[in-house]
Amino acid sequence: MVQIVHLNGQFLPLEEARIPVLDRGFIFGDGVYEVIPVYSRHPFRLQDHLKRLQHSLDGIRLANPHSDVEWTALVRELIARNEGEDQYLYLHITRGVAKRDHAFPKDTPATVFMMSSPLLPPDPVLRQNGVAAITAVDNRWLRCDIKAISLLPNVLLRQLAVDAGTAETVMLRDGFLSEGAASNIFVVRDGILLAPPKGPLMLPGITYDVVLELAAANNIVFHVEPVAESILRSADEIWLTSSTKEILPITHLDGHAVGSGTPGPLYRKLDQLYQDYKATIMRQPSS
Ligand code: PMP
Repeated sequence: MVQIVHLNGQFLPLEEARIPVLDRGFIFGDGVYEVIPVYSRHPFRLQDHLKRLQHSLDGIRLANPHSDVEWTALVRELIARNEGEDQYLYLHITRGVAKRDHAFPKDTPATVFMMSSPLLPPDPVLRQNGVAAITAVDNRWLRCDIKAISLLPNVLLRQLAVDAGTAETVMLRDGFLSEGAASNIFVVRDGILLAPPKGPLMLPGITYDVVLELAAANNIVFHVEPVAESILRSADEIWLTSSTKEILPITHLDGHAVGSGTPGPLYRKLDQLYQDYKATIMRQPSS
């Protein structure tokens, strides 16, 4: 399978895509990105992803190189040029190629890179049995709402989970839950779904929004409020959410069972609602 990518206005095989070493993405990690799942060739919640991309670009003071209409056309062409009904798209925008200097370069075009990869559904065994996670102190910066390509803290935090033989690192900042190294985290306690509020300390997940919309539409009681460490540690259920992992139950945290140690009833309900919602998206005609 030849993977076709987009680089600065051109579609070409991944192996042929090259960027200069002075690209500020390479030198400084000076850029932002998006990950968009595609189901049956339909980009999932594209407008929401483009809105979050604009928020990230505004956060790093980089002009958007494309209008939403242009992005939509590029996304559709990238999907069409790649194999597979289900894909995930990676969009990466940097502050371009310039002499190495921290301050912004003048009149330098942004670098735009887009890639499609096969999207595999989450392992049914993980949805059935749940995953283990560890906790760690959230030592990232104070603008975690920007989807920045400089992911070194997230890389180190996720590696802690891998080293411990677990699936994710759940982060705590000042005694409160923030998010996972590459996911948002929900908690269920006494039948109520709890979600940390959006703000500068977590990425506003698209899957997070979908979960809360589905909860609201299905009379599931939820509170968007700060989640203290004690609540996390006495949770009946913990879930992680992300565009590629969807919703997964965390059944063990720091080696202790969460609730009964098996996926809980509210997880089962929300996961089913999420699968149904995805199915309606897939049935929509392409626009
Ligand atoms: N937080 C972080 C740090 C992430 O990397 C991700 C995954 N991109 C998420 C949350 C979940 O966001 P989404 O649901 O939009 O994939």
